[in-house]
Amino acid sequence: MSGRPEQLGVAGLRRALAAREFSSVELTQHLLARITAHHGLGAFLHVDGDRALAAAARADQRRAGGGDAVLLGVPIAHKDVFVTADAPTTAGSRMLERYASPFDATVVARLGDGPGGAGAITLGKLNCDEFAMGSANENSAYGPVRNPWDASRVPGGSSGGSAAAVAARLVPAATGTDTGGSIRQPAAFTGTTGIKPTYGVCSRYGIIAFASSLDQAGVLARSAEDCALLLSAMSGHDPRDATSAERPPQDYVRDLGLPVPGAAAGRPLQGLRIGLPREFFPATLAGDVEGRVRAAVTELVALGAQAVDVSLPRTELSIPVYYIIAPAEASSNLSRYDGVRYGHRSVHADDLLEMYRRTRAEGFGAEVKRRIMIGTYVLSHGYYDAYYLQAQKLRRMIADDFQRCFKDCDLIAGPVAPSVAWKIGEQGDDPVKAYLADIFTLPGSLAGLPGMSVPAGLGDHGMPVGLQLIGNYFDEARLLQVAHALQQATDWHQAAPAGV
Ligand code: GLN
Repeated sequence: MSGRPEQLGVAGLRRALAAREFSSVELTQHLLARITAHHGLGAFLHVDGDRALAAAARADQRRAGGGDAVLLGVPIAHKDVFVTADAPTTAGSRMLERYASPFDATVVARLGDGPGGAGAITLGKLNCDEFAMGSANENSAYGPVRNPWDASRVPGGSSGGSAAAVAARLVPAATGTDTGGSIRQPAAFTGTTGIKPTYGVCSRYGIIAFASSLDQAGVLARSAEDCALLLSAMSGHDPRDATSAERPPQDYVRDLGLPVPGAAAGRPLQGLRIGLPREFFPATLAGDVEGRVRAAVTELVALGAQAVDVSLPRTELSIPVYYIIAPAEASSNLSRYDGVRYGHRSVHADDLLEMYRRTRAEGFGAEVKRRIMIGTYVLSHGYYDAYYLQAQKLRRMIADDFQRCFKDCDLIAGPVAPSVAWKIGEQGDDPVKAYLADIFTLPGSLAGLPGMSVPAGLGDHGMPVGLQLIGNYFDEARLLQVAHALQQATDWHQAAPAGV
């Protein structure tokens, strides 16, 4: 096959496949070879080449017969917290090492090549932090993922496999989940574009639960346009998820090019007010990150937007609040891994209690155990009022702070993370260091708001920096539109790591 189809994003591949520049089988073969060549990144936990090629052949047949499903024959991959009937699902944990799901997650089915699906081909499952707990992909039971920009650095987490695979051009797009930043932060660390929609936009049915009131599916890709293509297919009400929002299906691609009402030509963001929370630019923010974020804001202003000062006074409190609520929910959700219903069961036990104890001791890694213990503690009698209830009250106040901001601005901009990607192992065994680095993603998560990370150029050590955009509820169309306008005017999102 001539050319380098891995350089094309989802939109480009759609056009090339429709124009018969290459077949889905050829494309799939090409990407499978790249996955093998970049095996050292640790991005994939499972690849099923034969199944993918058979699916690609079916896609080519459908196209020959006039089929034109939106993602027909486009290869993608899923974070290994989405259950899949055709491939194992581990959630990055030993606990689920041999787990086989009898069904596909709703998001997987909607993107895939089954009846009613958008027609994408699944190449495999992507590495992630165990049960999506982490910010560096160093907590996977199956080894770390490496950042394609610098193999000695982390790709971010917990959707680190998704981010690395997209950045290394192994797939044009991948699914991820974001509970406290796990799409936005790895997107920022790898120079990819990631969107976490409003809580409730994507079904959680078939997503292995971490913290149910925060977990949300989304996309990592190489442009806002590609994110819009996938998000349109995967979002929408699902009666099998009681927290899924009852809204008509959205077409984020159609909305992409719409100018802000009344905008002048060449200034597509005319009239758009972008709030810069002063708490998102603390003295501790790395200078290179601040410089790139401000440069991106300057670009948005050149496109017609207006920057306004706003305040999110409880930004710092979002760390303790999140690290009470998320472990509390995790301790409850993970109680199902008892050696009876799912996954691993210890063979070293003589009675039931011992079986539970050993199963969980053997199956869970250190970070997961830490969260289960914290969660159990903050929910226990006597501490519930002091910790969990207080955290819930603060969560409401954090959400209210955003609504006050949105009186003065249409969307919020700032950094995604306080620094560029750090070195693998650099944080030692101090989990609090990683928790503190979540400061800019947690507030939006606690409020349930949509957020994006958009590439904003390179910082120190030639590592990517992300601009975070946060919208009001269900304003993902506007987020994508603003990110798209920025990507029409700049080429930061096209920068690729050396050697890929
Ligand atoms: N880094 C955060 C945590 O460790 C967020 C993880 C996520 O969004 N899944 O919990």
